[in-house]
Amino acid sequence: MPVRVRFAPSPTGPLHMGGVRTALFNYLFARKHQGTMILRIEDTDQGRFVPGAEEYIMESLAWCGIQIDEGVREGGAFGPYRQSDRQAIYRQYVDQLLTTGWAYYAFDTAEELDRKRKQAETASVGRAFAYGAANRLNMRNSLSLSKEETDQLLSSDKPYVIRFKMPTDEEIVMHDLIRGEVRVNTNTLDDKVLFKSDGLPTYHLANVVDDHLMEITHVIRGEEWLPSLPLHVMLYKGFGWINTMPEFAHLPLILKPSGNGKLSKRDGDKLGFPVFPINWTNPESGEVYSGYREAGYFPEAFVNILALLGWNDGTDQEIYSMEELIQVFSLERVGKSGSRFDPDKARWFNHQYMMVKTDEEMAEEFIRDYGQRALQLTEPKKTAMSETEWKRLVKIISLVKERAGFVKDLWDQAWFFFEAPSNYDPTTIKKRWNTNAPEMLAGIVDRLKTAETGLSDTLNPEFYEAIIKEYIAEAEINTGWVMNLLRLCLVGAPMGPGVFDIMAILGNEEVITRISTAIDEISPLTTS
Ligand code: GLU
Repeated sequence: MPVRVRFAPSPTGPLHMGGVRTALFNYLFARKHQGTMILRIEDTDQGRFVPGAEEYIMESLAWCGIQIDEGVREGGAFGPYRQSDRQAIYRQYVDQLLTTGWAYYAFDTAEELDRKRKQAETASVGRAFAYGAANRLNMRNSLSLSKEETDQLLSSDKPYVIRFKMPTDEEIVMHDLIRGEVRVNTNTLDDKVLFKSDGLPTYHLANVVDDHLMEITHVIRGEEWLPSLPLHVMLYKGFGWINTMPEFAHLPLILKPSGNGKLSKRDGDKLGFPVFPINWTNPESGEVYSGYREAGYFPEAFVNILALLGWNDGTDQEIYSMEELIQVFSLERVGKSGSRFDPDKARWFNHQYMMVKTDEEMAEEFIRDYGQRALQLTEPKKTAMSETEWKRLVKIISLVKERAGFVKDLWDQAWFFFEAPSNYDPTTIKKRWNTNAPEMLAGIVDRLKTAETGLSDTLNPEFYEAIIKEYIAEAEINTGWVMNLLRLCLVGAPMGPGVFDIMAILGNEEVITRISTAIDEISPLTTS
């Protein structure tokens, strides 16, 4: 049977990175087996519907490079793919369960149910109220009422729900591809609502019916759905679909960096890392939830990070492209226990991806983010630059890339190539700026001025090295002293690549200006 898997999110808010991992594992599994990846929107809980969430999910998956074969946008032979567009289908299936005795009508009001719950709480047995085999006959439903009463209630406009009639004394033995055998006795399960008074199915009914109708072969989903599995298996049985029931795989939790409990938005806020794939603005509060995309992560790095949360291929390899993941992914190698999220490691992954990119690729990313803001280009594009400017930028990127994990770091490491320093590091001044400094620097300026002809925009550090070294030798001065002061004049701070590299990129004219400016600005600070 051809593999068909689905990612079935509910559009109740932004997709947490755990949700994206579920989508990714489905996608890898589908591609590995030349199967089909379906995106089904489970929006039957209208009370929890959040505008924009569906679009958010699609945009997030697209950013990650998770391609959908069948879905709301893509269409397909098994549509519609949004559950609210499938309403008519579910009624017919719940009717089938009513006819065969696997489901029944229940008329209990919210107040009645509440009263039962309170009674159970105060009763000495101390067990929570469960609507199930033990007391379903004490409730108001088509099992406890006569046929006449039931018919009358149904034809009145009294609201009702339809519940699953969980069989008693049955041992359900399930096989999960990750967890192995799972056993549950039906006596521990209650009669879940399948159809609500608003005429919409609950998650359980819609989910099982759609998995069946869409011919899903493997249900790969988060561990939080494991408790629903026994009911789902019983539904397959009730419908007579047990022989075509999909295989199940419940993915382990993603844990907090501390390892205690499930990773939440709060952990991200506290420790300063995103928990969502892309930015999300809460439509009600306006609060912005930060995403990996906007935090400067490469989608390939994000996917790589997710892939290793709960899965490994048994080797030491850590860097995988999507193609490689598709080759080596298997559900058998997904762990049972929760996987701790390590934000430092996430940053490390991004740095690795940056190092793999060419200087030209990174220069383009840099222009996209800083082209207009900092470089004052008319457009954030390479074409808005001259050939010389572009070459210069690529050279700058090559010099600072090693120290950067994100595009933003490139700016932090390279800003002084684009603007002159506006202040000078006081520690360096204190340590190095003695009475001889202005004269020494002025001497260098003189040499640079006379050497200027024809070499002003050279990208050649050796040119500067030769001039400075010659000067140092002739003046018999300390190299370290000179280099530190030159850096102070050019950058303002003890940072950046080699001084000669910096000079070569700035060009002779700018170097002369910066040194002269520094002499003028620093001297008065020190002579007082
Ligand atoms: N709608 C459920 C969710 O939001 C789907 C769970 C499943 O995959 O069965 O995750």
